[in-house]
Amino acid sequence: EAPNTRHFTCTFYSDVDRRNLLTEQDMENRMHGALERGEFVAYFQPKQRLSDGAIGGAEALVRWIDPVRGLVPPDDFVPFFERNGFIINVDLCVFEQVCKLLKSWLDQGKEPVPISVNMSRAHLREHDFLAPYEEIRERYGVPAALIEFELTETLVFGDPETFMGVIDSMHARGYRCSLDDFGSGYSSLNVLKDVDIDTMKLDRAFFSAGDATGQREWDVVESVVALAKKLDLDTVAEGVEVSGQAVRLRGMDCDMLQGYVFSRPVPVAEFEKMLFGE
Ligand code: C2E
Ligand code: MG
Ligand code: MG
Ligand code: MG
Repeated sequence: EAPNTRHFTCTFYSDVDRRNLLTEQDMENRMHGALERGEFVAYFQPKQRLSDGAIGGAEALVRWIDPVRGLVPPDDFVPFFERNGFIINVDLCVFEQVCKLLKSWLDQGKEPVPISVNMSRAHLREHDFLAPYEEIRERYGVPAALIEFELTETLVFGDPETFMGVIDSMHARGYRCSLDDFGSGYSSLNVLKDVDIDTMKLDRAFFSAGDATGQREWDVVESVVALAKKLDLDTVAEGVEVSGQAVRLRGMDCDMLQGYVFSRPVPVAEFEKMLFGE
């Protein structure tokens, strides 16, 4: 590790700021303090509605804003926190920031857009895993209908039985449910008929080739979107980076796009500016 990291404090936070990877020991030592100091910060990546180009929602994505290391991206700490269970605290912290934001819009009479949050599988080991979420949401008094839980494909297809129960309890409380990273690995089309999700998010792997996306890939995307429509699911294409892809997705009636071509994940103030103007 560089001895003079402090020198870099308060430089700009870039998404590719990997000067100092946190070791697992570092993270273990610092995670509780970081949570108390509010270092786990939700950024927001707007989702663009393809029918009219407007912002139709957003995904909350956590960043660890470390006073010494700057912005640490989730891929550097979420996997470790999934293993030691601390991700439960981080997810709830993000969820609380989302509730707080929705509440402030409602108080100001602003038109809210739905926000999605990622839920780690670690929660599902708890008997009443929604109870801590419900406690927070009720404290802020925001409607569950404005919140969507994103659950990853691996979780859903790894244990579809459990997953169906999970979806039911979310729906019973009024939350929406989305299947994240669809098509990234373990998708089994057979399971789709049983799981009562609201939204399908097409994995960014479908779009990683940018302008070089081939016809066969587009054929697959088009079929997946058509299948999702048939099952009455909303569709969100993730990781779209070039405008040609956006145009084609609009042509196949995909509902929303979430990708750098429209916006990167941004801090809350910037997101509100995009939504409501100055
Ligand atoms: P995810 O839930 O699939 O989130 C989408 C990821 O794709 C985000 O990465 C987003 O910044 C990135 N992305 C969006 N558009 C583009 C694009 O056009 N090009 C490229 N190259 N990437 C794009 P991010 O924010 O680094 O998050 C990575 C993963 O970390 C998330 O994948 C999610 O699995 C996990 N994660 C993030 N926040 C949380 C959280 O609060 N709780 C939990 N449990 N996991 C989280
Ligand atoms: Mg997600
Ligand atoms: Mg995803
Ligand atoms: Mg992911």
